[in-house]
Amino acid sequence: MIYDFLIVGAGLFGAVFAHEITSRGGTCLVIDRRPRAGGNLYTEEMAGVNVHCHGAHIFHTDNKEIWDYMRQFAEFNHFVNAPIADFRGEIYNLPFNMNTFHQMWGVKTPAEAKEMIARQRADAGITTPRNLEEQALCLVGRDIYEKLIKGYTEKQWGTDCRNLPAFIIRRLPLRFTYDNNYFNDRYQGIPIGGYTPVVEKMLQGSDVRLGVDYASFSRLNPGQAARTVYTGAIDEFFDYSLGVLGYRSLRFETEILDTENYQGNAIVNYTDRETPYTRIIEHKHFEFGRGPRTVVTREYPAAWRLGAEPYYPINNEENTALYEKYKSLAGERGDVIFGGRLGDYAYYDMDKVVGKALQAAFDAAGRT
Ligand code: UDP
Repeated sequence: MIYDFLIVGAGLFGAVFAHEITSRGGTCLVIDRRPRAGGNLYTEEMAGVNVHCHGAHIFHTDNKEIWDYMRQFAEFNHFVNAPIADFRGEIYNLPFNMNTFHQMWGVKTPAEAKEMIARQRADAGITTPRNLEEQALCLVGRDIYEKLIKGYTEKQWGTDCRNLPAFIIRRLPLRFTYDNNYFNDRYQGIPIGGYTPVVEKMLQGSDVRLGVDYASFSRLNPGQAARTVYTGAIDEFFDYSLGVLGYRSLRFETEILDTENYQGNAIVNYTDRETPYTRIIEHKHFEFGRGPRTVVTREYPAAWRLGAEPYYPINNEENTALYEKYKSLAGERGDVIFGGRLGDYAYYDMDKVVGKALQAAFDAAGRT
């Protein structure tokens, strides 16, 4: 064996795992089928702006250890995510807070907002929410559901809100203060210089080969490493032998504009059903950029089929049951560690991925 670990996927899980192993004196070969490292974190400089090429990534966590861990690799700025929703030209603050309630109903106090929501909740007549629609109606009532949730969610997931699990909407805070911070976490920011240098630093000390596909690589190069860390799609690892898990894909359209400031905010969500994209990202606002030009990306949700990029796992009942079967197959493979959003088939935020990778590396290092 040449290496201790063959790591499949140079995204966040793979990079943190590799860093942990190499800093303990172990050896790693990291491969990725994409031509660049960084996974969906990958950022690239365009017109003097660091562009989040695979969608906005805002690092946030409540865990001080994870925050300090990340800050070894970069200085983080003081960006706070405060997205805006555009519903057919009406502008609302997100997440749902007193600003939103004021814009929606003209209410000024928390008591007035609570009363309005309670009235709409009672009208909906739901006691135990069984799906995303019912969960949303219970949490915020019909007006907010119809203007700010329904269209956006149905575009993003390509299905009716009644077919979606309630937990997706629980990601969004609901507050009765005038606070537009999208996240409740104590620590938040964007690495100055973008995410690509962060991942590159994590991978220093490992051998990295890009544009390399795992299936053919492992067939042609057996015996590279004692163990494998696999961060690709778990169903693909097993050749889809039990069936294909469902994913949601995305398409990004990026353009450089000769305008200093296009939309005045990093993220504007288009929450109506008709606009084909879910959001427009103006990347310079992630880093308080002041240059004369700007870069914007429209994010279009897309159906996923075999061969397309899997972005979000669709954690419905059918897929969860299928994933459980793959997970038990995975459990029989003592030589392979599965991780990351695709390896675990889970809708993780970045800090969760870092925490899981640190734990996996700690466990694995104990065994070498
Ligand atoms: N969501 C919504 N309206 C919005 C933003 C989010 O209804 O304007 C809901 C929607 O159901 C979505 C979920 O919140 O699937 C999570 O959105 P988020 O923007 O956090 O997703 P991510 O950034 O992970 O793609």
